[in-house]
Amino acid sequence: MTISGSNLIGYSRSAKGNEQFSGVIKDEAGNAWSFFEATPEEIDEAISKANTAFPLYKKLSYIQRALFLERIADEIMAIGPELIHATMQESNLPEARLLGERDRTTNQLRFFAKILRDGSWLRAIIDTPTPESPAKADIRQVQIPLGVAAVWGASNFPFAFSVAGGDTVSALAAGCPVVHKAHPAHPVTCELIGSAIIKAAKETGMPDGVFSLLHGKNYQTGLQIVRHPLVKAVAFTGSFQGGKALFDEANKREIPIPVYAEMGSVNPVFILPGILKEQGTTLAKSLAASNLLGVGQFCTNPGVVVLPGGELTPAFINDYKSAIEAATGGVMLTENIHRSFNKGTKELSEQQDVELLAKSGQQDEKLATPQAYIASAEAFLSQPELSEEVFGPSSIHNTTKNKNEMLEIARSLKGQLTATIWGNEADLKEYSELKDILQDKAGRLILNAMPTGVEVNYSMVHGGPFPATTNSTTTSVGSTAIYRFTRPVCFQGFPQSDLPEALQDSNPFGILRQINGQFTTAAIA
Ligand code: NAP
Repeated sequence: MTISGSNLIGYSRSAKGNEQFSGVIKDEAGNAWSFFEATPEEIDEAISKANTAFPLYKKLSYIQRALFLERIADEIMAIGPELIHATMQESNLPEARLLGERDRTTNQLRFFAKILRDGSWLRAIIDTPTPESPAKADIRQVQIPLGVAAVWGASNFPFAFSVAGGDTVSALAAGCPVVHKAHPAHPVTCELIGSAIIKAAKETGMPDGVFSLLHGKNYQTGLQIVRHPLVKAVAFTGSFQGGKALFDEANKREIPIPVYAEMGSVNPVFILPGILKEQGTTLAKSLAASNLLGVGQFCTNPGVVVLPGGELTPAFINDYKSAIEAATGGVMLTENIHRSFNKGTKELSEQQDVELLAKSGQQDEKLATPQAYIASAEAFLSQPELSEEVFGPSSIHNTTKNKNEMLEIARSLKGQLTATIWGNEADLKEYSELKDILQDKAGRLILNAMPTGVEVNYSMVHGGPFPATTNSTTTSVGSTAIYRFTRPVCFQGFPQSDLPEALQDSNPFGILRQINGQFTTAAIA
C-alpha cells in the first residue's frame, strides 16, 4: 500500500503545508504514514475548483451522474482487502463489521444511482391554464442543486458516514461537487476511498473539481471551509461539540447557508408494563445486546431506558444486569473516545441519586467497560445532565411510579434521532399519548424493535429536532437526503425549448409528475 498523505484537490495531489500529523498505520519501514494538513491556499483551491466544476457537473445528464456513483462503488470494491485491513487498524472495528459496512456503502451509492435514473426525485410540479381557468399562469417547479457542498464524516462509520458515505453520495447525486474534510482518526481509509472517487470521476468523464479531500487535525481547517463564500451547504456527522461548532461558525457568515449537522442522541426506549410481563427476559437480553453492539459506538445506541414501576421490573433489571456483567467490553474507535467514555461514565456515577446498576467484570484498561446506571424518575427529571449522550456501552435506566411520570420523562426529552416504545396492544391503548409526545421529539419512532441499525431506503428518517441535528426538516439517510442539497425553482411562462426536460410537455424522462394537482407519468397533450 502506498499512501501519499497529500490532499486530493480535484485531479491533483497537493502537499504544500508545513504541518503534518501521523495516523496509526505504518509503512514497510515501520514509520507511521503522515498526512499534510491542508493550507488556507489549498482549501481555497479545492473549493474554487469545485465551484468551477459546478456548472459543468450540474449540466450532465442524470444517467451520467448515476454511472459516476456506480463507478465509485466499483472502485471501492476494487481496492479489495487492503481497504478492510487498513480500516481495521484505524478504527479497531472487526473485519465482519467492516465488510458489512462496505457493502452498505456501495449499495447506498447504487441506490442513489437508481434514484437518479428513476427521476421522480426531481419533484416536477406543473400548473397549466385549464378550460376552467384559462387565464391561469403556466408555472413549473423542479429541484436544482445548491452548489459546492462541504462534508464531514464520523469515526464510528469509517465507510457509511465518511468519505463516500451518505452525505457525499446524496450531494453528488443532487449535482453538487463535494469538498470532504477527512476524519483524522482514519486518514488512510479516507485517502484510499478518496482516490477511488477520483479514479471513478476521471473514468466517467466528470469535471476536475467534482470531488476533493482535505486533511486537517487542526480545527481551523474545518472552520475555514465553513466560512468560505463559495461553499453553499454543509453536511456533518459526528459529535454535538463538532457539529455545533461548525453550525455556529456558519451562522457568522455574511450569506447564510444550510448546515445539516447530524449529532449525538440518547435514543430513549420506553418499556410498557404489558410487554414487560410477556417478554421481560427476552427484552432484557436484546436491550443489552443493542447497548453493547459495536462497543456501544452507534449513534442509535439506546442510552436512556424508561421502565414502569411494579413487581416485574426487578426481574427485568436482574436479567439486564446479568447480560451487562457478562459482557467483555472492547477496544474503542480512538483513545480520545475511550477517554471521553471514562469521563462521561464517571460523571454519571457522581450525579445525585444515581446508582450503578451493572458493570462488566472485565479488568483490561485498554478496553471499554460496559456499564449501566439507575435513577428514579424524580432524579432524572431534576438533572438534565442525565439525558446527555455518553458515547459507548453505557445507559441509564429510570424507574417510574406511574404513567404520568413516564409521560413526564418523555416530555422532558430533547431532540433525538430515535425514540422506541415496547408495548403490546393493551399497552399502546393505555399509553396512546406517549407516541404523540415522542413524535415531536424524534426523527424515527420505533415499535417493538431495537433502535440500532438504520436502513437505507425511501422512507428512512435519520434526523430529528435539535440537538440530534441542526435541521429537523430532513434526513441524512435514505433517498430524501438528496433534498438537503437542492432547492425548488419554478419557471413561469417559458417556452418548451427553454424548460428543463423534466418539465417539458412531452415528459421525455417518463417520470412521475404532479400536473394541476394530479400525479401522473403521462405527457401533456
Ligand atoms: P467528532 O469528534 O465530532 O468528529 C467528526 C469530525 O468533526 C472530525 O473530522 C473532527 O475532527 C471534527 N470536529 C470535531 N470537533 C470540531 C470542532 N470543534 N471544530 C471543527 N471540527 C471539529 O465525532 P466522532 O467522534 O468522529 O463520532 C462520534 C460521534 O458521532 C458520536 O457522538 C455519535 O453519536 C455521533 N454520530 C452521529 C451520527 C448521526 O447520524 N447523527 C452518526 C454517527 C455518529 P477531529 O477528529 O480532529 O476532532
